[in-house]
Amino acid sequence: MPITKAEAARLARRTGMKEADFCVVNDGVLTLLNREETRACVFLLTSSADADAEGLCSVYEIRPKGCQTYPYVLNDRDAAVLDEGCPHRTQFPPPPEGTDVVLLNLEERIVREGSAD
Ligand code: SF4
Repeated sequence: MPITKAEAARLARRTGMKEADFCVVNDGVLTLLNREETRACVFLLTSSADADAEGLCSVYEIRPKGCQTYPYVLNDRDAAVLDEGCPHRTQFPPPPEGTDVVLLNLEERIVREGSAD
């Protein structure tokens, strides 16, 4: 999951973790790390590596914007769609109006931050 620098700083401040322990720069984009054993986000409380395993987000109240808007993502025409990779996507309604603008603004911010390094 891509995150902003402010979100990384907030997660570090609130969890007491070092940023290097939960995120990495991937192609210039700050991205949450996955645990090797679960192949899921380091903040997901789960013991299973199954794609549709139950789990709870340990930072739910301060989760990044991309997590809040998931499973809505942008397709290659910049339209908001349900992520094909989400095993729970059938439980969500189509993207609400304006989701594309929210996601485009978030993407622009993350890419701008990445190119400023
Ligand atoms: S919602 Fe929580 S567990 Fe899921 S990717 Fe975001 S921070 Fe990680």
